Amino acid sequence: MRSKTFRSWLTHLQTRGRLAAIDKKVSLEFEVAGIAKKLDGKMATYFTNVEDYEVPVVSGICSTREDFAEALETDQFNLIPKFTEAVSAPTVCRLVEPKDAPVKENIILENIDLMNKLPIPVHHEDDSGNYITAGLFIVRDPVTRKQNVSIHRLQISGKDRLGALILPRHTSYLYKQAEEAGRPLECAIVIGVDPATLLASQASTPFGVDELEIASSLHGKPLEVVKCETVDIDVPAYSEIVLEGQILPNVREPEGPFGEFPKYYGPRSDKEVVKITGITHRDNPIFYTIVPAGYEHLLLGGIPREASLLQSVRQTVPSVKAVHMSPGGTCRYHAIISIKKRNEGEAKNAILAAFANSFDIKHVVVVDEEVDIFNMEEVEWAIATRFQAERDLVLVHSAQGSKLDPSTNDGIGSKMGFDCTVPLNSEPMRFKRIQIPGEDMNIEEYISSISSGLKKEHVEK
Ligand code: MN
Repeated sequence: MRSKTFRSWLTHLQTRGRLAAIDKKVSLEFEVAGIAKKLDGKMATYFTNVEDYEVPVVSGICSTREDFAEALETDQFNLIPKFTEAVSAPTVCRLVEPKDAPVKENIILENIDLMNKLPIPVHHEDDSGNYITAGLFIVRDPVTRKQNVSIHRLQISGKDRLGALILPRHTSYLYKQAEEAGRPLECAIVIGVDPATLLASQASTPFGVDELEIASSLHGKPLEVVKCETVDIDVPAYSEIVLEGQILPNVREPEGPFGEFPKYYGPRSDKEVVKITGITHRDNPIFYTIVPAGYEHLLLGGIPREASLLQSVRQTVPSVKAVHMSPGGTCRYHAIISIKKRNEGEAKNAILAAFANSFDIKHVVVVDEEVDIFNMEEVEWAIATRFQAERDLVLVHSAQGSKLDPSTNDGIGSKMGFDCTVPLNSEPMRFKRIQIPGEDMNIEEYISSISSGLKKEHVEK
């Protein structure tokens, strides 16, 4: 697979002319994030001269749907089916010896000083400080021995100390159990993995599924992992950098504010604390950062959510064709769904199924299958010409939504669905889209010139 490791993917991007090397000296505060944002959705960035650090910084390794499809060796249309297949059939990883794991080339167990060693950026103007935004946070269930992987924002709070936002999901559940027993929860924070492993970490799975095993399935062969030095956790053998540590029991310290995916700040409050006990890294390691709310961040959240949404809607409306969590809707709040309507009312059922899939979903648009749901101009056209609020609007008030949506009342808000499907009994010509026979021709074959074709008798003198 072309995305076997972080480096093989960077090499691939470079071959395709999609890796911008930035050798000019740049500041860790804002400049790295600002430049990466400028190239967001177009090119990955590779900063070789960040302040006085030897370690380079990379951002934006996958910032389009095409990038992710390419990394998974598929196309845009098969991206969600391929991901769904891997989620439903995880396969075990393969444990390798430290000598076969590049991430063991350097081992630091004393005098840990994160900011001295690693170029960890400050991203947004009101952020509380330097943040690790792209660390795969791995913990282990002591009962089943299964690992769990997720990404949490990590504030640098000291030389060997991080403040973490751990929302109430799988990591939090295991931490609460450890804390009740008065124990820390061991963890590893993995920075710089291949795009398939990165995407797998964001899969919506039931508790007890190891996201690294989903990465194995995406790769089509077992992911190679290696034991950590100071904690009982296995990490990808080809990771750039691994921070080992533990979430301390009964300790909370201030964390935030921090610029988040909805393009607003998450607030400052007392949160969990991670103490770092060891660092391992490859020779000449590369640090990786995700600029919050950029396409890379949004798509990493959106693609796995689409896979989960498609399955939910399919249970209610089997004729669902595709779903899209659009970037304008933060890849979480807006769902666009295409169906092949067989019975009147199905679009409204699809809307209800989408609301039930995730509390984050706030607005749902359902269209007929001939509308391209990845083209927002097409979606707007369907809303403009196939929707009447009196009969096509679904409204639910005071439901649970996203706490990071500032228009809600601490997460409580309204949900709205737009049924933009054509009535089944409408006259055929009424909603027939105008078309020019042959308009899908290959236009290149017709154009003789675009810069010098005007005949001289037609040039105004
Ligand atoms: Mn999980």
